[in-house]
Amino acid sequence: MKSKQNCEELEQKIHELEQEIRQFCSTENQYRSLVDSTSDSLYLVDNQCRYIFMNKNHIDRLRLPREKLINHFYSEFHNSEQSDDFARKIKDVIATGQSLQDEHQSSQKDGYFLRTYSPVHESGENSQITAVAIVSKDITERRRMEEELKKSEEKHRLLIDNSTEAILIIRDAFITFANRKAEQLLGLNQEEIKRVALKDMVIEEDRDMFINRQQSTVSGEIFHNAYSFRIINMSGKTIWVESNIVPLQWEGKPATLNLMHDITRQRKTETRLFQTQKMESIGTLAGGIAHDFNNLLMGIQGHASLALLRIDPSDPNYEHLKTIETLVMNGADLTRQLLGFARGGKYEVNSLDINALIYKTSETIGRTKKEIRIHRKLADNLWTVDADQKQIEQVLLNLLVNAWQAMPGGGDLYLETANYILDESRTKPYDIKNGQYVKISVTDTGIGMDEKTTERIFEPFFTTKEMGRGTGLGLASVYGIIKNHNGFINVYSEKGQGTTFNIYLPFSARHSANGKNGVFHDIPKGTETILLVDDEPLILDVGREILHTLGYEVITAPSGLSALDIYRQQEKRKINLVILDMVMPEMSGSQVFDELKKIDPDVKVLLSSGYSLNGNASKIIERGCSGFIQKPFSLYDISRQLRCILDRQ
Ligand code: ADP
Ligand code: MG
Repeated sequence: MKSKQNCEELEQKIHELEQEIRQFCSTENQYRSLVDSTSDSLYLVDNQCRYIFMNKNHIDRLRLPREKLINHFYSEFHNSEQSDDFARKIKDVIATGQSLQDEHQSSQKDGYFLRTYSPVHESGENSQITAVAIVSKDITERRRMEEELKKSEEKHRLLIDNSTEAILIIRDAFITFANRKAEQLLGLNQEEIKRVALKDMVIEEDRDMFINRQQSTVSGEIFHNAYSFRIINMSGKTIWVESNIVPLQWEGKPATLNLMHDITRQRKTETRLFQTQKMESIGTLAGGIAHDFNNLLMGIQGHASLALLRIDPSDPNYEHLKTIETLVMNGADLTRQLLGFARGGKYEVNSLDINALIYKTSETIGRTKKEIRIHRKLADNLWTVDADQKQIEQVLLNLLVNAWQAMPGGGDLYLETANYILDESRTKPYDIKNGQYVKISVTDTGIGMDEKTTERIFEPFFTTKEMGRGTGLGLASVYGIIKNHNGFINVYSEKGQGTTFNIYLPFSARHSANGKNGVFHDIPKGTETILLVDDEPLILDVGREILHTLGYEVITAPSGLSALDIYRQQEKRKINLVILDMVMPEMSGSQVFDELKKIDPDVKVLLSSGYSLNGNASKIIERGCSGFIQKPFSLYDISRQLRCILDRQ
């Protein structure tokens, strides 16, 4: 009975056990399928870093059969650096009971993993930690995407940083982004830029326009053309900026994208060129008036000279006539300056030692104006220039007088010379050749000028001086003379600080110097026959009278063609000399000269013109013309010139 009961109990027990095992197996299966189905790797290691469990995923990842892995050490499958690092972390987790995370690159370097290390307790929460569970997540794809993003960001940054345009984003008036070029343009670093409202750097005159553009763009208006404005950068320099502007959203708010570049240089060149053209047209105008006016003076001068010859010095009118002569000469001085400015030329071109000339001219000023200290810094071995000494002296005197007038309380005057080689970027705005130049600088520490004045100083009759003190012709003639010498002049000035004028004259390879100009005190006369050619009846009349008075036979011709006719018809020897006007309608003096030469290679021609000896006239002189006289000429001038030529063998 007892054994039967025992037997039943045993069977019951077995059944229960079987149930339990089945239950256990199914739970185990559930765990296993859970663990094996995850895309992450799961494994357990003991405190020796020995694998005690791993899921299918991890076995696949290590590409070895399970028995070659379980109970083997982590270090058998990883390099020493990785193994040491791993061991340290395992030790840490066991010691602290805290989870850890790291990122790890696979041994084959083909993947990245995010690993979480968690402590595993023997049984129950507070028991000893005997193992560490590691969940390793494949983050290779995520890493790749991050890297790609970083690379593309880098490319954009490279483009923006190396852009030749300054790129600025302006939002709510402030600069929220600026590339490297923008930093350079504004003279600010990244930190400073963030605190700047660009409109505060824009000069006052341009500010409204700038703000307008910004606001219109933010409200969606599209501008297709660039606009330009001036800013004062952090070094205090005014720069011209040209900018394109488009609206955009920046960090969720409306803003403007501004692409800017510096056009200061270009602007300066444009202004200079414009200035040069303006002077050219003023020159034409002034020259036209001066030319006619000069002929009138010539008439007055002639008649006065004649009247003086026939009048006794005791006559009450003698002094009046003398005064008329003086006044005509003063008038002629003015027209000469104007003509010099307009087109005139070099009267007597020689190789000039500019240093010596500066020394001499400034000495004169220095002696009389004691309140001015003169400093000279004259270059050794200064190149020579081909120039008219009298004209260059005139230029220096004008500049020195201006400087003196600009320093009413005295001051310093600096005179400098230097050799310069100018390239196209320097000469282009002035429309002249590049090459070797001699530079003359005249600097004063006087009252200076503002920009508006500086722009106009070379215009004839522009003066800021009171009546009687200035004619406004000084710098106009300086400009003209320098231009006629194929040089150029520029000016730098600051109000209250002083002014510098720089003159550049082209270097001359030619070396010759000749002195002339004896002074005659009597009026030499003659008896030869002279053909006087001029299109101006007034000149013909007064000229005939003057020449008669001097004893000459005179034939007049009102045009080049009639002059040639007359010359041909004459017995050759009858005409000893031709006085030939340069500027005539139909046939110019130059053409007439060439024709005369064909008729008679030995013909003697004295050129006359209201302009001083300019390019054309010098060319004719080179072609064998005997001399040049500037109108209005006095009886004394012409008498001297005529004898000079006629007595020459
Ligand atoms: P003027 O001396 O008869 O006024 P200029 O042609 O010589 O005529 O000069 C024109 C103007 O240029 C002057 O009235 C003056 O305003 C300005 N200027 C010339 N040189 C200087 C200088 N060194 N410093 C300041 N202003 C000058
Ligand atoms: Mg002056």
